[in-house]
Amino acid sequence: MPVHPNRIRQVNAALEVNASGPVVYWMNRDKRLHDNWAVLFAQQLALQHQAPFHIILCLPTHKNSFTARTFDFMLGGFPELIDDCAKLGIVCKVLLGSPAKNVFEYVSNIHARCLVTDFDPLIDSQQIVHELSKHLTVPFFEVDAHNVVPVWQASNKQEFGAYTIRRKITSQLETYLVDFPAVVPMPEQIGAGHEQGEHGEQGERVDLTAVKKAISVDATVAAISWCLPGQMAAMHALNQFADGIHRYADRNNPTLRGQSDLSPYLHHGQISAQRIALKMLSVESAENSVHVRSFLEELIVRKELSDNFTYYNANYSSTDGFPAWAQQTLHEHRGDVREFVYELADWENATTHDDLWNAAQTQLVITGKMHGYMRMYWAKKILEWTESPEVALAVGIYLNDKYSIDGIDPNGYTGLAWSIGGVHDRAWAERKVYGKIRYMNANGAARKFDAKSYITTYAKT
Ligand SMILES: Cc1cc2nc3c(=O)[nH]c(=O)nc-3n(C[C@H](O)[C@H](O)[C@H](O)COP(=O)(O)OP(=O)(O)OC[C@H]3O[C@@H](n4cnc5c(N)ncnc54)[C@H](O)[C@@H]3O)c2cc1C
Repeated sequence: MPVHPNRIRQVNAALEVNASGPVVYWMNRDKRLHDNWAVLFAQQLALQHQAPFHIILCLPTHKNSFTARTFDFMLGGFPELIDDCAKLGIVCKVLLGSPAKNVFEYVSNIHARCLVTDFDPLIDSQQIVHELSKHLTVPFFEVDAHNVVPVWQASNKQEFGAYTIRRKITSQLETYLVDFPAVVPMPEQIGAGHEQGEHGEQGERVDLTAVKKAISVDATVAAISWCLPGQMAAMHALNQFADGIHRYADRNNPTLRGQSDLSPYLHHGQISAQRIALKMLSVESAENSVHVRSFLEELIVRKELSDNFTYYNANYSSTDGFPAWAQQTLHEHRGDVREFVYELADWENATTHDDLWNAAQTQLVITGKMHGYMRMYWAKKILEWTESPEVALAVGIYLNDKYSIDGIDPNGYTGLAWSIGGVHDRAWAERKVYGKIRYMNANGAARKFDAKSYITTYAKT
């Protein structure tokens, strides 16, 4: 089955070319071989043209380009990817340095026939795509391999909230929520197609030890061990979650493990949301349907709403990206006296007066994943106890992107913009500092779960 044409868009004007080389897929956001529409589209092109198929990954090498936490998790998925490519006759390379420069040079050196990448709404990736599209003379395609409904098909504008995007997504699920075909072995006679290049022979494996040596990581943010990386580990986690889907009823209780814990895999592209959705539908029954449906609401509607926000709102990481009513109300309360005003170090070291907040921050720093309910509380208290909404958003983004194993993600920017800036929310009763932004407090948390137990679990030692 071919990849749905609306999942693909050509981002430059180059037409079909004379180049006779391989089809190259620059794997950026969706770092997996299977269940990946960008892989399937690139392979479709390669087979159609009887051309070799190359997959390239490109890792920046500037100082502290990754935390040890993120790097370890990302790299942990590579051996499986590299092995699977080798088994199927797909050339797989890891390039080091600036993606715009390296991808361009690779495509040029190898006389690639065309370039394919996966869609990522975040500005850094969009800028690289833009740079590449300006210079490439071969066709360059972007494939939405992350969302069930491609972001540009779900909507052509920034949506107000889940209530405006839900129907736009669900009405298209019949078209897009289909099973993936398998990636097939490349015919042997096609070969590797890079005799002219400097990129080694087919079968030469990526030297991950050399990759590790070349990358500068921030070792102060330690790797995690509770969540094993890779596509197989992700599928295992999915199967376990599906078996215990009834526990999703407890998802808002941070002392229980009701959530799926699939966000690290989703963020690193080691599992497809579409695969998760198909699996959950396959286990749906009259007894568990309510849980399956609330999970799918988060996995599809809320997650794809985040891609919509970050794609259509270039100010997604600034208070300028907040809706007008929220900017106005926050501005009106700019001068309100804050009960506490903390500096970045207080936040980062979890030394506020609030044990619940400190526990959440400690959970984030130690485990790399704060519970979903606590993320809202955590962000709202940063708004309440910093000098301005601008500083609050900057602190939230800094901490989330640095420590979250699923950070630097549309969900993170959107979650913070929701908590601090009313994005996708409505105005609430007006109060100090928050203005009309929705308020949360520790009493509300204590009514929902055993806050003392959560605090004890993550008390700083
Ligand atoms: C301040 C704040 C910061 C956040 N930062 C991040 C982040 O950096 N990365 C991240 O992936 N999510 C973030 N979220 C969204 C949400 O909290 C997490 O996706 C969720 O807790 C991840 O855990 P899980 O996979 O076990 O969730 P589950 O409840 O099992 O959900 C499954 C999947 O659905 C999606 N999802 C769930 N809740 C949301 C939501 N509210 N918005 C959008 N998608 C959702 C995620 O992809 C998640 O992995 C943030 C939310 C807030 C309020």
